Amino acid sequence: MTTLEAVQAARGLLEEVTPLKTDCGALCGAACCKDDPNDEGSVSGMLLFPEEEKLYKGQDVWMEIVDSSLLLDGAPVPLLLCHLPCPRRKRPLACRLFPLTPYVKDDKLLLRMDVRANPICPLCASGKAGLNPEFVQKVKEALRILWADEKCREYLYVLTEHLKEYEFLG
Ligand code: SF4
Ligand code: SF4
Repeated sequence: MTTLEAVQAARGLLEEVTPLKTDCGALCGAACCKDDPNDEGSVSGMLLFPEEEKLYKGQDVWMEIVDSSLLLDGAPVPLLLCHLPCPRRKRPLACRLFPLTPYVKDDKLLLRMDVRANPICPLCASGKAGLNPEFVQKVKEALRILWADEKCREYLYVLTEHLKEYEFLG
């Protein structure tokens, strides 16, 4: 399996399943798709997994892709900024995983609530136990695929360091 195939397989597993069995966006007005209300200049941004950028060539109406400040192998990790609601089947893997996240500790891949969700996501209060079990299961399957790919695994280490900065601030 190539890196892009691994990312596509992970996205595919999370095509239909959602954090709650009902529409969790109705609880919060889809807060994770909105710009930060405390930061006028902000736009929603999602870090893309390795090679995921290739799935967005020529699709610039609702989004743009810019360089983030994170580096993977010396190159910036692409950041997708959405200016309009995305076509659902185009949403990045990061959005499909949210409010869960992969997290590497002692060279083991863990599944955690995303620290970046704390200020916005009402699902954080009940943690993983409050999420749709099918969603949690599919995320685990997706992460196993990503972890088996060398490039994605490398990215998961970079992502974990990024999450640690939020933990430090939070
Ligand atoms: S912020 Fe949380 S509850 Fe709201 S739409 Fe996003 S994942 Fe669902
Ligand atoms: S890409 Fe789609 S799902 Fe992700 S934050 Fe933007 S609008 Fe929401």
